[in-house]
Amino acid sequence: MEKHDYKIGDRIDKMCAVCGEERGHTITRVTKRSQVSLVSCPKCGTSSSLRKGQAILKGVAPAKASAPYDRRHTYRAGQTMLHSAFGEGEVTGVIEGRKIDVLFTDRLRRLVHSFA
Ligand SMILES: [Zn+2]
Repeated sequence: MEKHDYKIGDRIDKMCAVCGEERGHTITRVTKRSQVSLVSCPKCGTSSSLRKGQAILKGVAPAKASAPYDRRHTYRAGQTMLHSAFGEGEVTGVIEGRKIDVLFTDRLRRLVHSFA
């Protein structure tokens, strides 16, 4: 029998009822049997319990390290970055060519990109 050994902080794909889309949720509570019982949505921050069959278990991949933010790089929505001051962020939208909205753990920030 395959044994999943989930830890707090691991990612698990789950439909977020608030965002209305499936995304990687962060595991915030694990039972003694290493069963995930509570996850939180990184985008809206909603905590939700994990019921059997609700999650699409893809196995636990270690969190993919994001590339450092580079203003010369051209970003697309959905890409992640590691900002020296704000930490990990996900591009949520591209604005008028040279600007991007990036969701960091605390709030949304507007950054430049494609900066020659
Ligand atoms: Zn959400």
